[in-house]
Amino acid sequence: MPTLFEKIIAGELPADVVYRDSRVIAFLDIRPAARIHILIVPNKPIPTVNDIADEDESLIGHMVIVARDLARQQGIAESGYRLIINCNADGGQEVYHLHLHLLGGRPLGPMITRNT
Ligand code: 5GP
Repeated sequence: MPTLFEKIIAGELPADVVYRDSRVIAFLDIRPAARIHILIVPNKPIPTVNDIADEDESLIGHMVIVARDLARQQGIAESGYRLIINCNADGGQEVYHLHLHLLGGRPLGPMITRNT
């Protein structure tokens, strides 16, 4: 079963695409958690961080470079932002196609809630 993101990559599902090249696509998150919430997604369907192969090193680096450039383009490079990759159930992953969240445009608060 292709994931939602594979369908977006294939153009079978609509998305607000803000960037695309031969290795990645970036589009607006459908349920934004901040004023800027962009998902940077590799075209290659890697399910989770656990499935990243050594040979994917440059692809993962490219995702971060794209996030850096989008942050500049969106005007949040100086105010700040957060990059997140969730992994599996405890990480809160919903879509099992690797993606990097770029969040910003407001103070994002602590990284996670502390349960003391
Ligand atoms: P995860 O929890 O897996 O790290 O993040 C999945 C993200 O994908 C969520 O923030 C969710 O809002 C977003 N999302 C889920 N379905 C869709 C969709 O069909 N289109 C877009 N643009 N985002 C989606």
